[in-house]
Amino acid sequence: MNEREYMKEKKRIVVKLGTSTLTHEETGTLDLLKMEQLIRILTDLNNQGKEVVVVSSGAIGVGRKAMGIKERPKELSVRQACAAIGQAKLMMVYQKLFAEYSQLTAQVLMTKYTMLDDISRRNAENTFRELLQMGVIPIVNENDTVSTDEIEFGDNDTLSAIVAALIGADLLILMSDIDGLYTDDPHTNKDAKFIHVVEKITESLEHMGKDTNGSLGTGGMATKISAAKIAVNSGADMVISNGKDIYNIAKVVNGESVGTLFKAHKLEDFDLTDYIKTNR
Ligand code: GLU
Repeated sequence: MNEREYMKEKKRIVVKLGTSTLTHEETGTLDLLKMEQLIRILTDLNNQGKEVVVVSSGAIGVGRKAMGIKERPKELSVRQACAAIGQAKLMMVYQKLFAEYSQLTAQVLMTKYTMLDDISRRNAENTFRELLQMGVIPIVNENDTVSTDEIEFGDNDTLSAIVAALIGADLLILMSDIDGLYTDDPHTNKDAKFIHVVEKITESLEHMGKDTNGSLGTGGMATKISAAKIAVNSGADMVISNGKDIYNIAKVVNGESVGTLFKAHKLEDFDLTDYIKTNR
């Protein structure tokens, strides 16, 4: 019996797409062919009666590209301006591609403040509930244009786990630039072993994530493991999978053994707001 067979039963799925998954490595521009496939996969999940939420990065990258800015801007205001430009462009492309299948989408921009303020958090929760009931696919990003250090999540791995917890998702898929979790950095240690399933996030696993953080792209392994803690404690399984093959999304939901699966361990007393406050 395939131990991931139960993945087929997942009903509410959050898919996080990193900038590296959406853009060409060489040029930093959007990989439209891959995005077309992505949109087909997501619409098809929706067509199967599943509820789908996308957490998409790429705003700053797309904005930078549009303005011809080669390096990541050091100045916050420039990054925020790039995010404002890029977010609109990104949504335009998403909406155009989803429209081919008459699939409606919606933009949801959040900051940490949205989660910490009771009224804002309830509003966000209600909005997600309505959108999903309407069969719309929400596309979420951090509201980078107004986020500053005090109120930013900082990375979309964390944001996607928080969204998964907020809406009571049963699966979070992180599409990243790595296959999943290894026992060590596979770039420097050829004996590093791939980990298919994490039954429980132990302290030694967290240390491993910290040790391999440096070379593994934006977000890094440490943020992915801390995202996994939020997801599994809230009752969602989480899978880290390589965005190079966008069909990995469909494979994960189909129960195939791709990526690293972190198994859900719902904590009955898990308080998301408390968690965010104590991990600021
Ligand atoms: N919110 C950022 C953007 O859209 C991305 C943050 C991340 O990738 O973790 O550019």
